[in-house]
Amino acid sequence: MSEAIVRVENLYHRYTTQWAVQDLSFDVKGRGVLGLLGANGAGKSTTMNIICGVLNQTSGSIYINGIDLRKDPIGAKQHIGFLPQKPPLNPDMTVDEYLTFCANLRRMRGPAVKKAVQAAKERCGIDHFSKRLLRNLSGGYQQRVGIAQAIVHGPEVVVFDEPTNGLDPIQIVEIRHLIKEIAVDRSVILSTHILPEVQLSCDDIVMINQGKLVFSGTIEQFDNYIAPRSLLVVFNAAPGLDTLKAIPAVESVDKLTEKRFRIFFSDPSGIVERMVRLSVEGNWGIQEIALEKGSLDEVFAYLSGKTVKS
Ligand code: ATP
Repeated sequence: MSEAIVRVENLYHRYTTQWAVQDLSFDVKGRGVLGLLGANGAGKSTTMNIICGVLNQTSGSIYINGIDLRKDPIGAKQHIGFLPQKPPLNPDMTVDEYLTFCANLRRMRGPAVKKAVQAAKERCGIDHFSKRLLRNLSGGYQQRVGIAQAIVHGPEVVVFDEPTNGLDPIQIVEIRHLIKEIAVDRSVILSTHILPEVQLSCDDIVMINQGKLVFSGTIEQFDNYIAPRSLLVVFNAAPGLDTLKAIPAVESVDKLTEKRFRIFFSDPSGIVERMVRLSVEGNWGIQEIALEKGSLDEVFAYLSGKTVKS
């Protein structure tokens, strides 16, 4: 019925009296990583838990590979893997025992189980720890086992809820790489607070604020969401401040050094061309010119309804 691997349609969820998700709709299509962003309490975990079928929505629909999750939960869940914020690991099982158990839970039987466990271990780089008890693995390797259980049944979409939380910087880089690799041949939905991680890992972004959708688009669109408001210019022979301030659309000018200026403007269209033309006409000799756009932090704060710092 749909080309989307995950379709979220008019989703609402209420905990007792409080709405955690309201009228949320978005699609996850194709391969790659979709970042699910939002401030603390925005509704990310609630949305992920509903998509993965571990929480029942108040209303609205989830389709996984075209299958209505409410009408056919077993059929829909075969296409999805989930690593919740706290990996559901049994510390007294070995890696092999645990992954076999997870494959069985996914209704896999017979020789297919051994093959799937082996493939998941190889994919996640934990093959050499097959007989190790989970309690004796480092945090990073426990997370790899958590990822292996999420992909053991070969799902088309995998959901990771803050997968690098609590890991050291080296483990964070490794897990980030692993997630990118996993997303080469399937869709990944990744929830995270860490904006540099978003820039490094995500192809598309869905952002929610107070349970409502505030952004859906590519990482480039997210990055460029706040139009540039200033230019950084270095002149060889800088004109006077009054000359710069008189340029159409220029609002104010900060003189940073004798040659370096930050020029704030009201409208970015044509500002670079205008500056270059005037520089040629006036022999100001532009050495450097760069538009300064809003950072990811600023976009995130703006979409979260917080003040954007200037
Ligand atoms: P975080 O980044 O802090 O994990 P989140 O974006 O994942 O936050 P949710 O955990 O989905 O947000 O919570 C959304 C809202 O629902 C919050 O206001 C939260 O306090 C509330 N909430 C979450 N779980 C429950 C629950 N079991 N009972 C009542 N309220 C809840």
